Amino acid sequence: MFADVKDQLATELEEIRAAGTFKNERTISTPQSAHVEAAAFGEPAADVLNFCANNYLGLADAPRLIDAAKRALDERGFGMASVRFICGTGDLHLELETKVSEFLGTEATILFSSCFDANGGVFESLFGRGDAIISDELNHASLIDGIRLSKAARYRYRNADMEDLRAQLEATRTQNEGAPARRTIIVTDGVFSMDGYLAPLDRICDLADEYGAMVLVDDSHAVGFMGATGAGTPEHFGVPDRVDIYTGTFGKALGGASGGYVSGRREVVDMLRQKARPYLFSNSLAPSIVAATLTALDLVETSAGLREKLFENAALFRRRMDEEGFDLLPGEHAIIPVMFGDARRAAKVADAMLAQGVYVTAFSYPVVPQDRARIRVQLSAAHSSEDVEACVQAFVTARGATEVC
Ligand SMILES: *Cc1c(COP(=O)(O)O)cnc(C)c1O
Repeated sequence: MFADVKDQLATELEEIRAAGTFKNERTISTPQSAHVEAAAFGEPAADVLNFCANNYLGLADAPRLIDAAKRALDERGFGMASVRFICGTGDLHLELETKVSEFLGTEATILFSSCFDANGGVFESLFGRGDAIISDELNHASLIDGIRLSKAARYRYRNADMEDLRAQLEATRTQNEGAPARRTIIVTDGVFSMDGYLAPLDRICDLADEYGAMVLVDDSHAVGFMGATGAGTPEHFGVPDRVDIYTGTFGKALGGASGGYVSGRREVVDMLRQKARPYLFSNSLAPSIVAATLTALDLVETSAGLREKLFENAALFRRRMDEEGFDLLPGEHAIIPVMFGDARRAAKVADAMLAQGVYVTAFSYPVVPQDRARIRVQLSAAHSSEDVEACVQAFVTARGATEVC
């Protein structure tokens, strides 16, 4: 039986390779940090400077998180071996839910195994036939998939385009045979990860008020470092209490292990505990991860230094790359895309940089629009100014070595 499928899959894999979109993985044999030892298949491992992790605050190998995780291993064991509602709710899980609510300034929080699961559970539980979900076209795959699971009417607006969002809101007013949608929600990433652009949450909340819609923000690329206290893009835009539902991950700035959450209005969270399938039918987070994430939130609350270092590095990188004449997308986030346009050029520059010991990733169509190929640089508080300068110098050398002739 498998023989036919084997040939089909082999052909499809060959097509992916031929299209140049095959994803190879590098193996890292050290903790995730500014410097890692990394190897591609068949190559010896080399020490490289890492500019492509989501390790914004440099907490992935922080001794205090590791200590907290070790203590939890000793005191709470390795795994919960249960979903939450049977016998998988630890005191630490409840503590982390309370802590996330305090940190974001929300009423309640529910944990998931990942943000992918949080987004997979939130829509189907709250929105059904007769409702409307309006989604930014560049939203994360997990939001797109989660929205698909709901029976609500689906609308899409052009990236951060408020005129188009208004048009979609207008359409919900007559969607039910001339009658308005029962519940309407606007769904957006807080930060669009390919560009480092922020969603205009102030204007989104204004439109939501005007049309009586709710707002959901997935703040995975912002929680822990955007906003004055690190509470994310709603804080950055001064609209924390106008966002009804927050989703986010612990797998990026907050230690980078795993786990996600939905936070916001109490009734929303209460309903998710009853209905969200990835919560009801998937194992509870490991206690060591919960304990270390509590420590990560403590660190964010008590030391602004990590955020300051991150944005200092981002500003330094921007200034130096400008001076060297590179084309950067404008912005204020620690994701800084260096534009090359041509996909082969971007890939060649990334390869040449790796040969110099600087690890960055090139992105091209279909991940980004045609002729908008780029190298996405991600800064971290773990980088020193010397690391940032080394990255700039690697760009300069690689540009020279790959000049089109
Ligand atoms: C990374 C990311 C996720 C996935 O988070 P996990 O916890 O790794 O599943 C979801 N949404 C957005 C916007 C992300 O950037």
